[in-house]
Amino acid sequence: MSSPLSRTRTECEALDRADPLAFARKRFLLPEGVVYLDGNSLGALPATTANCLQDTVRHEWGVGLIRSWNDADWVALPKRIGSTIAALLGAQENEIIATDSTSINIFKILAGALSLASKQDNSRRVILSERDNFPTDLYISQGINATFGNAYELRLVDENIESAFNDRVAVALVTQVDYRTGRMHNMARLNKLAREAGTRVVWDLSHSAGAVPVELNKNGAELAAGCGYKYLNGGPGAPAYLYVASALQADFPTPLSGWFGHAAPFDFKPDYLPAPGIERFQCGTPSVLAMLALGCGLATFADVSMDELRDKSLRLSDLFWQLMDEQCGEFGFACVSPREHAIRGSQLSFAHEHASAIMQALIDRGVIGDFRQPNLLRFGFTPLYLRYTDVCDAVKVIREVMQCGAWKATRFQQRKQVT
Ligand SMILES: *Cc1c(COP(=O)(O)O)cnc(C)c1O
Repeated sequence: MSSPLSRTRTECEALDRADPLAFARKRFLLPEGVVYLDGNSLGALPATTANCLQDTVRHEWGVGLIRSWNDADWVALPKRIGSTIAALLGAQENEIIATDSTSINIFKILAGALSLASKQDNSRRVILSERDNFPTDLYISQGINATFGNAYELRLVDENIESAFNDRVAVALVTQVDYRTGRMHNMARLNKLAREAGTRVVWDLSHSAGAVPVELNKNGAELAAGCGYKYLNGGPGAPAYLYVASALQADFPTPLSGWFGHAAPFDFKPDYLPAPGIERFQCGTPSVLAMLALGCGLATFADVSMDELRDKSLRLSDLFWQLMDEQCGEFGFACVSPREHAIRGSQLSFAHEHASAIMQALIDRGVIGDFRQPNLLRFGFTPLYLRYTDVCDAVKVIREVMQCGAWKATRFQQRKQVT
């Protein structure tokens, strides 16, 4: 007679064998004995990255030297990698550029959108966002407002941002998938309501790109930015990206008017003249090695259907939730993520009084998620390399850690600098 646990594992093995995305796991180098549930924070290492960087360093940098800006086409990397991201996010290839960090890109498009809005209707004086938005989005909004002499009100809503659009709101800064709860906005509906109210939306896609079908064009998005190092697997601190719909590009202001966004940077003219297309949203010299690593991360999505990816992401998360209920029900975890698929991204977060210590004990045993304030254990599901058996094994470890109280050890009580 097999126990319920071993029966579940056998079922998961069958799910892995039938998984249409199983081929993609080989595209990553994952350490033995680890279940990685934090690809939403730092994507795993693609199998090609190390060699690609080494070759580039030795040959293109070491031998080609400065000639490689032309000969290896380094100068076109932000545009080329941007077009790969565009294909993933349902945008045209000339609408996305890989550049800078998400925080800086939010600055560029939010400040630009505010200048545009003030030219069109100077009475719109509200920047709208959500109190639970990722802090950098709120900090950047505050910094921009201070730069504009606090000419705006930063209005933060606790829920239902769609009902807060009105004729005072210049720009709404909205993160599609909430980093804490995994709750997801309906992009098409929100864009439509914003458009009807005359409000422009700036999207932060950090927790949605590479995890859910985004479809920027189809859903009527005009402006967006997001991270390269999360689901896109670009490596720690990878370049971010920025999206400006083609219809908006020609008139869009560039508050960080650096020379790489100039129409002819190597003419070295004293006056700034922005490049006509998406290139204008660059600021300074691109980080070539980091761009190449991001390219390797994006290549892990080759021949992957976003619909299949989404389907597996939901199956993995539903399975995790079900096993948590069945095997860890008595330990006081409360899932704070929406149950409904249509409003959930690719993560689950569980509230627990001892979340921080429990997460450290899990990481110690190779089940890597993360802790988020104030009391959340966060688990991300990355369908390219996660297996159903990984989910099964992770919940088994959570059960063990709770049953034997391993999280109570003194060394797990102190929070680390980066959680
Ligand atoms: C991770 C994340 C960021 C990070 O911004 P960086 O500039 O890359 O540090 C920004 N916004 C959201 C919503 C995020 O989840």
